[in-house]
Amino acid sequence: MADKRKSLKELIPPLRQWEGAKTDRLVRSPGKFGLGQTPKDLIPDATTSMVCGFCSTGCGLNIHLKNGEAVSLTPDTEYPVNIGMACPKGWEALTPLQADDRATSPMIRDQRGGVLRKTTWQEAMNLFCNKFKAIQKKHGNESVAFLSTGQIVAEEMAFLGALAKFGMGIKHGDGNTRQCMATAVVAYKQSFGFDAPPYTYQDFEESDVIVLIGSNLCIAHPIMWQRIERNPHQPEIVVIDPRKTETAVAATQHYPIIPKSDLLFFYGIAKLLIEKGYVDPEFVSKHTEGYDAFRAHLSKFSLEEVCLVSGVALTEIEKLVDTIGQGKRVSFWWTMGVNQGHEAVRTAQAIINLALITGNIGRPGTGANSITGQCNAMGSRLFSNTTNLLGGHEFSNPEHRAKVAAVLGMDEALIPEETGWAYDQIIEGIHEGKIKGLWVIATNGAHSWIHQDKYREAMEKLEFLVVQDMYTTTETAECADLILPVAAWAEKDGVFINSERRIGLVKKVSKAPGEALSDFSIFRLIAHHWGCGELFSQWSSPEEVFRILTKLSQGQPCDISGIESYQQIDQFGGIQWPCRKEDVSLLGIDNQRRLFDDGKFYHQNGKAKFIFSDPVEVAEQTDEKFPHILLTGRGSSAQWHTQTRTKKSAVLRKLYPQNIYVEIHPEDAAKLGIEGEENVLISSRRARVEAAAYVTPTVQPGQLFMPMHYAKANKLTYASFDPYSRQPSYKYCAVKVERL
Ligand code: SF4
Repeated sequence: MADKRKSLKELIPPLRQWEGAKTDRLVRSPGKFGLGQTPKDLIPDATTSMVCGFCSTGCGLNIHLKNGEAVSLTPDTEYPVNIGMACPKGWEALTPLQADDRATSPMIRDQRGGVLRKTTWQEAMNLFCNKFKAIQKKHGNESVAFLSTGQIVAEEMAFLGALAKFGMGIKHGDGNTRQCMATAVVAYKQSFGFDAPPYTYQDFEESDVIVLIGSNLCIAHPIMWQRIERNPHQPEIVVIDPRKTETAVAATQHYPIIPKSDLLFFYGIAKLLIEKGYVDPEFVSKHTEGYDAFRAHLSKFSLEEVCLVSGVALTEIEKLVDTIGQGKRVSFWWTMGVNQGHEAVRTAQAIINLALITGNIGRPGTGANSITGQCNAMGSRLFSNTTNLLGGHEFSNPEHRAKVAAVLGMDEALIPEETGWAYDQIIEGIHEGKIKGLWVIATNGAHSWIHQDKYREAMEKLEFLVVQDMYTTTETAECADLILPVAAWAEKDGVFINSERRIGLVKKVSKAPGEALSDFSIFRLIAHHWGCGELFSQWSSPEEVFRILTKLSQGQPCDISGIESYQQIDQFGGIQWPCRKEDVSLLGIDNQRRLFDDGKFYHQNGKAKFIFSDPVEVAEQTDEKFPHILLTGRGSSAQWHTQTRTKKSAVLRKLYPQNIYVEIHPEDAAKLGIEGEENVLISSRRARVEAAAYVTPTVQPGQLFMPMHYAKANKLTYASFDPYSRQPSYKYCAVKVERL
């Protein structure tokens, strides 16, 4: 099994040389440069295009080079996603690469709480393998786990998942996509038969009714909002959200439902749509199953109850139902306000059910459309080898295991027969002493995980924590025993898959600092040193791995076997899945493709399923001691998640408050004597956090809002999870607010 051809000492220098090479492997858009140019034709002081590395919108950016290094960027006017637009994060995407706290060499912390010392890759690899192997030997293979990310390229995700699960015998691995997209994955799988967001961004411009649910698009996905602004049909823009967000202010209709009344609210909408005759009977009978049972389920709920629980008046509900029912092209879009709930999967499916009963799917301007969060959340869903076997396959399916083993040329017995633990189960496993070693890749759970103190306590309990990251200063890196320094976005090659299933290219346009290596090269090193390098002998470069991924996808709904090369992706401004061999002739002609235009879904009978269940109570209730509901979410378009990168930009820092703040309604503020511009104390049953009060009617009385970008916000949140997706419920916990 061991790769005997080269010693590690021999392997590291060529990797460094490869990583340190100037930008010499760029591919070019034929629109600008002519198809067929070879890399040696390229001049170093030129412009190349690639996709942004922050959010799932997947905007195209033109990167301007001097002497082969990126020096500036502008949004790509030809890229079909953003058409020349970018948000503040995109404009500043190159700045975080230059930060002072980049990890530039492997670092070891000899003692918990001690300082980090620089080391060599050789020693780092020795420590990584010796420690994890010793833990596995003593406590079993299940005692080591990994937590990955939606931020690295798909080729690296696949390598990590395959290396960990097939090469190192690690059973439990998950990603931070559990925090954002797990709900949509499960909802789609159960309803459509595959995890398949059906839309294309062109749908924003073709709808006559756009329903945004739990989605502050203006802030979270500003370029998607710009696509709505280009809609020439004067659409009704409906926002369903407890907060009067920037998007709600810009909408034509806003329904400020009581937090987490959404499932019942959508059942009420469905019931009234049916009662008012807004059903598409032909679509329902030909393309769905379970409609009669769904209708019977709805009969349990009265509209009076829906109004009472949601806080929305019947006349308002009727207005919304008429808007949806009379729309010709109605699209439903949801994001974290739905996904991060205690009954999130059923809520997402309640939205899907609205699209199904009204036949609003598979046509331009329609769809039940989940918007992802991270730049490669979709890549993670298909290729991370965590919840799914590579390529959207199932670990539990023997045919799938045999297929994957054959494509990879490996022994089928190496593939586990079941999915490992979800993120929360891994953290719980650490607390229970079942997991002793953890490998964290490009994510910062010590900031972002729900009920943060419990996460941090878990890190302290580990025997060995490895953090693989571009910075040494993240909250999670500060707990690490070993830090592996990585090349970031724009310092390596690969693909991201965006929200509309578009595969876009990332290119190496800048040199990683110091001894940092791409995640890809680190996985190669680990494979070699662990002794399973031979298993990955074909995984020689990102593009070679991409070719393997295309083979793995063959025959799946996400089939991309028609894509031949990175250059082809570049040529067509990204390529949406599916792209089977027979679809290739359509590329360039039909560059905005949606799913289900033939009414065929992925269940065996070709039909979509109505899925539903009774609403349940939130896990943590307000009471006299903790009377307020705390909502969390995005604060501004200049901030990204834990601010690991965005806080490195002086430009971006000017665009948002530097200190944590909490939005509070003027009525509540008046009752408590809070005048604004003063610090208040927010307490939950878990922690107390000081924050600046921002008195504003964007929240309703009894509710507070705190942006998630500040580390202390998740000290307050309550760890409850959707039972199907195990996604954390960040959008509801009980707190108290007091003057200091
Ligand atoms: Fe990048 Fe997202 Fe901004 Fe587009 S919207 S520039 S992908 S962060």
